[in-house]
Amino acid sequence: MTLDTTRADHLGAYGDARARTPNLDRLAAEGVLFERAITAAPLTLPAHASLLTGRYPFSHGVRNNGNFTLDPGVPTLAAALHDAGYRTAAFVSAFVLDRRYGLARGFDRYDDRLELERRGGETAAAMDRWIGETAQDPRPFFVWLHLYDPHDPYDPPAPFAAPFADRPYDGEIAYDDFVLGEALARLRARGAGGRATIVAVAGDHGESLGDHGEATHGLFVYEPAIRVPMLLHGPRFTPGRRVPSLVRTIDLAPTLVDAVGVSPLPRADGRSLLPLVAGAAKGPEEAYSETYFPQLYMNWAPLRSIQDARWKFIDAPAPELYDLANDAREASNLAPREPARTAALRRAFDGVTGGVEGPVTPAAVDRETARKLAALGYVGAAVDSPRPAAGRPDPKAMVGVFNRLREANGAIARRQFDAARSAARDVLAADPGNAFATLILARAEMEQGAYRDAIAGYRRYASLVPASADPHHAIAVCLSRLGDVDGALAEAAAALALDPRYAEARELRGGLLASRGRLDEAAVELRAAVDIAPDNALFHVGLARVLVDLKRLADARGEVARALALQPENPDALAASASLLAAEGQLDAARLAFARALGRRPDADDVRLDYAGVLAKLGRTSEARDEYQRLATGSETPAAIRRAARERLRR
Ligand SMILES: [Zn+2]
Repeated sequence: MTLDTTRADHLGAYGDARARTPNLDRLAAEGVLFERAITAAPLTLPAHASLLTGRYPFSHGVRNNGNFTLDPGVPTLAAALHDAGYRTAAFVSAFVLDRRYGLARGFDRYDDRLELERRGGETAAAMDRWIGETAQDPRPFFVWLHLYDPHDPYDPPAPFAAPFADRPYDGEIAYDDFVLGEALARLRARGAGGRATIVAVAGDHGESLGDHGEATHGLFVYEPAIRVPMLLHGPRFTPGRRVPSLVRTIDLAPTLVDAVGVSPLPRADGRSLLPLVAGAAKGPEEAYSETYFPQLYMNWAPLRSIQDARWKFIDAPAPELYDLANDAREASNLAPREPARTAALRRAFDGVTGGVEGPVTPAAVDRETARKLAALGYVGAAVDSPRPAAGRPDPKAMVGVFNRLREANGAIARRQFDAARSAARDVLAADPGNAFATLILARAEMEQGAYRDAIAGYRRYASLVPASADPHHAIAVCLSRLGDVDGALAEAAAALALDPRYAEARELRGGLLASRGRLDEAAVELRAAVDIAPDNALFHVGLARVLVDLKRLADARGEVARALALQPENPDALAASASLLAAEGQLDAARLAFARALGRRPDADDVRLDYAGVLAKLGRTSEARDEYQRLATGSETPAAIRRAARERLRR
């Protein structure tokens, strides 16, 4: 079981008197608790890749969320247990662990059915169903449950909200503790989950909660973000044992295969903790952690650290050395004063890493992924033109800028565009090449109708991230709103040259071609948009409109039917259906459909104009006159529609 974003020192078993974590505390009391467990990375995907492979990130290759996939050649815990005859399943709670990132290998079932994230209770219910469905299977099972609730934003469900109103992060942890307790109870009710079952719990990373200026996690490798809870419960784990020495989350998978008698994972960096738990051997000498998030999303320096029983070294543009035994808060950087000890730690660091950085080869982030990551609060953008290593700012000097960037991202999500613009401008003043801030500023300008400024911003973004089709699509939208159809067509084509499956760009180009009367070409683009995104009702509507104009009424009818099947009350779909009925000569049915569409969206003046036309054809002259009158005098009505209404009134 993995607990996302859970700091060790916010559980009762780790000494937090205000915590409400009775189930985890009981598990700890009846099993083994590791007082000082260090994760390999303060980022969900790399941390889980380490948990599931027993390897450090420089060895398994997953250095960040979103733009890395676990290599199919790296042995995993799930694959090893599956090969050894286990039935295996995983139930994850956030998109960051979607199967596309490579962790699904070895699992018979990998349940990642969610848009962005889901509550732990839902995920645990899915796990319970699987255990029930496969209960007749005589093979032993390995199941991984991932709970994501303590991840920012903190909004614990009732009844965990009110008691934790002043510290909702702890309310989320309390909720996950409850979910875990229920899940274990259901497991026991199914005859599993007793003493013969091994239950392992680990955090993937912690949460800074303002420590060193960091609100959440990912930017730094200080202790609040990398020290995690780790508990083992089961036949090989002495009840009530607390292990004070340093251990690592990469030791978990080697420990589990050892505990069930499966052969070790080849080339793992971690090792079995069974001898340590039994008191027969010492634990690991040191623990390594890294974050490449600053480099890969922000174009800043990565941070890599090593710690031993007492000291911690952080490899940064300005290196850091802390005496954890006497300075647990890492407040006093001793590196400038203790060069010899710093050099010794750096040698130990090179001993662990082999003196190499390991592969840092991000894949391109597609649009959908970038949108989902931003919605989950991961700010950044994959950088295509990285700065040379020597020129990368030190993240600790940039934390204020980073926090401003998070504010900008949050303001965009809340549609507070003035706030977003001012926050993005602050970021760009301090870090002029910041791609994500450039994107946010342009987006806010576009939303506020400042199209020329937005176009200039998107052009800057396109030069920073030349592989991205997004800025070209956005420029096309801005140009079309400025009435520059030729320019918009060219930019939409530029977006499609970079990403031929960009459905929104196809749809935009189709609409622009139609506005130019190039209906056959428009139909081709709109058909392509529908083929790429068949569940988008509005794409079917756009295609239907052009098909009506082309007098391909049977084809149009199919598209309207699909749009209405997807969204029966969508005003655009209703209006398209009305136009189609009018084109087919079914004027009375068209009249009713137009009225329904206008009931849903009374300010759709173009629809009203067509409605009035149908009324006139039906001989309902006075009703038609009323509608034309309304359009001719409407203060918000577009000039072209006002003019058309006046003309028809004269006739
Ligand atoms: Zn996480």
